[in-house]
Amino acid sequence: MTSVTGAGARRVGVFGGTFDPPHIGHLRAAVSVRHTLGLDAVVMVPSGDPWQKRGTRPITPGAIRLEMVRAAAAGLPDIGIEVSEAEVRRAGASFTVDTVAEMRASEPAVQVTVILGADAAALLPTWERVDELKTQVRLAVVRRPGSGFEAPALGSPPVAMVDMERLDVSSSAIRADVARGAPVDVLVPPGVLEVITRHGLYRG
Ligand code: ATP
Ligand code: MG
Repeated sequence: MTSVTGAGARRVGVFGGTFDPPHIGHLRAAVSVRHTLGLDAVVMVPSGDPWQKRGTRPITPGAIRLEMVRAAAAGLPDIGIEVSEAEVRRAGASFTVDTVAEMRASEPAVQVTVILGADAAALLPTWERVDELKTQVRLAVVRRPGSGFEAPALGSPPVAMVDMERLDVSSSAIRADVARGAPVDVLVPPGVLEVITRHGLYRG
């Protein structure tokens, strides 16, 4: 990331997730938030160790999930999606509060908006050092029809609600499709499909 200070400070969205694999729902959420809030970029941050998902299912190694997110972003070069390897590189559980601190260290004036899907927003109170995080960032919640999430549940700081259409796609459904041999073309960008195939992911 380039370093910018003063009035030209970048406004950047931080969009974390397991991204196992990244799909059109994630990409569409990134595009919608960037457009609605006028952000300079949205940085997708694959979690190195998604500690809240530990023990629930096998999780694809971070390096491969990072490779998939990079492939997804590379296939859409002009829409302001960037990729951070910070959490995959860092040892131990991945905490957004550490990731934001790391961004600030290399780009002190950066203004960070943490982007959450409605399901992720509901879990925010369980995040590590969430009160500290809230003093450092703005929050944006992607609201999808039927997601049933209400902003006041998050308390302060003010939360930007960003509406997007419902794309009924999830990484879990995509993994299940691959496992039973159903095509996932279009649900994931071609570059992501190439990584899935090359590593033989999700075959069960
Ligand atoms: P899984 O099915 O394994 O839980 P997922 O598809 O929900 O995967 P995650 O990596 O868990 O993907 O989600 C990362 C972020 O993307 C979360 O904030 C989540 O709310 C959001 N998200 C997931 N699916 C969609 C979708 N279809 N549309 C918009 N946002 C989504
Ligand atoms: Mg999920």
